[in-house]
Amino acid sequence: MDDFGITPREVPRVQTKFRRIQTPIPAPESVPILEALYRDEPRSMRGQGLVIWYRAEGFQVHDRWGNTWMDWSSGVLVANAGHGRPEIAKAICEQAGKTLLHNYCFPSEIRARLVHRLADLAPDPLEKVFLLTTGAETTECAIKLARTRGRAVGGDKKIGIVSYEGAFHGRTLGAQMIGGIPALKEWIVNLDPDMVQVPFPDGFRCEDTSFDLFLKTLEEKGFGPERIAGVISETYQGGSAAFWPKEYAQKMRAWCDEHDIVLIFDEVQAAFGRTGTMWGFEHYGVVPDLMCCGKGITSGMPLSAVIGRADLMDQYPPGSMTSTHTGNPVCVAAALANLDIIVKEDLPGKAAEVGEVLQSGLCEARDRYSDVCGAAMGKGMVGGLHMVAPGGTEPNAKLASSIVDRCIEKGLLMFHPVGLGGATVKIAPPLVTPEEAVLEGLSVLREAIEEARNELG
Ligand code: PLP
Repeated sequence: MDDFGITPREVPRVQTKFRRIQTPIPAPESVPILEALYRDEPRSMRGQGLVIWYRAEGFQVHDRWGNTWMDWSSGVLVANAGHGRPEIAKAICEQAGKTLLHNYCFPSEIRARLVHRLADLAPDPLEKVFLLTTGAETTECAIKLARTRGRAVGGDKKIGIVSYEGAFHGRTLGAQMIGGIPALKEWIVNLDPDMVQVPFPDGFRCEDTSFDLFLKTLEEKGFGPERIAGVISETYQGGSAAFWPKEYAQKMRAWCDEHDIVLIFDEVQAAFGRTGTMWGFEHYGVVPDLMCCGKGITSGMPLSAVIGRADLMDQYPPGSMTSTHTGNPVCVAAALANLDIIVKEDLPGKAAEVGEVLQSGLCEARDRYSDVCGAAMGKGMVGGLHMVAPGGTEPNAKLASSIVDRCIEKGLLMFHPVGLGGATVKIAPPLVTPEEAVLEGLSVLREAIEEARNELG
């Protein structure tokens, strides 16, 4: 019926308190729009479920043809405070109406308010805030700050950046070089020899979760602390929802202190309540020297931030660490309104509470489908189910993808798994999702796993 294989599939109709599927999927009327996108955008933009977002509110996404999904993606972990929050929309409109749409690095009152707010929310000694636009920019910036510091204290040989296998830090050059998914960086060819990856101690793909493994790996790679400027890790890995063990984090903090190494947490996914605490690293009982933030900082507008120790953040002279859209006033207005909601509604606390229901449901699914589910990981309102070949441990991307497709057809929106062989079903509802909706989502997920497992064997 079309040039792109976008064929609507008959699916059972769904009508519950939270979900409504009234048409084949994709909705037949949406096909011309999908075709237009397929024609005019690069192929790389395909890959997510064929749901044309028309309105998104709270924990639900609606199309124009009467379908409503319960959202377990938060639009890639952005809508922490919920989609389309009226308070955020109002702040955006008010700011646009002022009319200050842009002011580059010239001072603005609203930027002063946001950087102060973020510095206030961040624990000591993280006290300076540099605003950017995307997550990848923050990881690039953190690499630069760490290397600059390394050279200052250890000369040209102390420029190494240690990161993790399986890590994702964005799609720009530096961010991909420190990324730990080899397929994503094949195009670079001449990788920086001072950027190395070590195993992530998730207790599943890497059974040894000791800090000794970190030290041993560096030794094997001939990468001593005198060569290392910084260690960067996602607070939990986006591809798997795996966290470091707390003891590992504490040993890492002590080791970085001992060797004057900058510890960076990439909190682009983890911050602003997602894991049941304001900052993801609170689970570790340590504070990094720099953190990278994005996504949930606004619940919808493009804004990101590096927050760090003053001595690191102040390394460059005026005018030499800037960005055209730093602190864009409309995005900043959204961030301020979003932070108000997160704090006033105690969304980290809510994520911890409802997250317990989510996490126990995921563990239950892992136990029930243990032949095809190797592990359930996560904290608060982020989780990952690791799908494996029946009875084995090989990542099973086909099964994970089929589960996601089935969920979408049943009115539960998730994004397609990427990274780590693409075999993790990733779950990330907005933090405002009530327990009742999480329970309904878990039953949809179980149905989808059961059907996909029966079909794929
Ligand atoms: N860091 C982490 C942990 C991420 O999950 C992402 C995006 O998914 C990024 C960095 C890159 O963010 P952006 O896509 O805004 O550049």
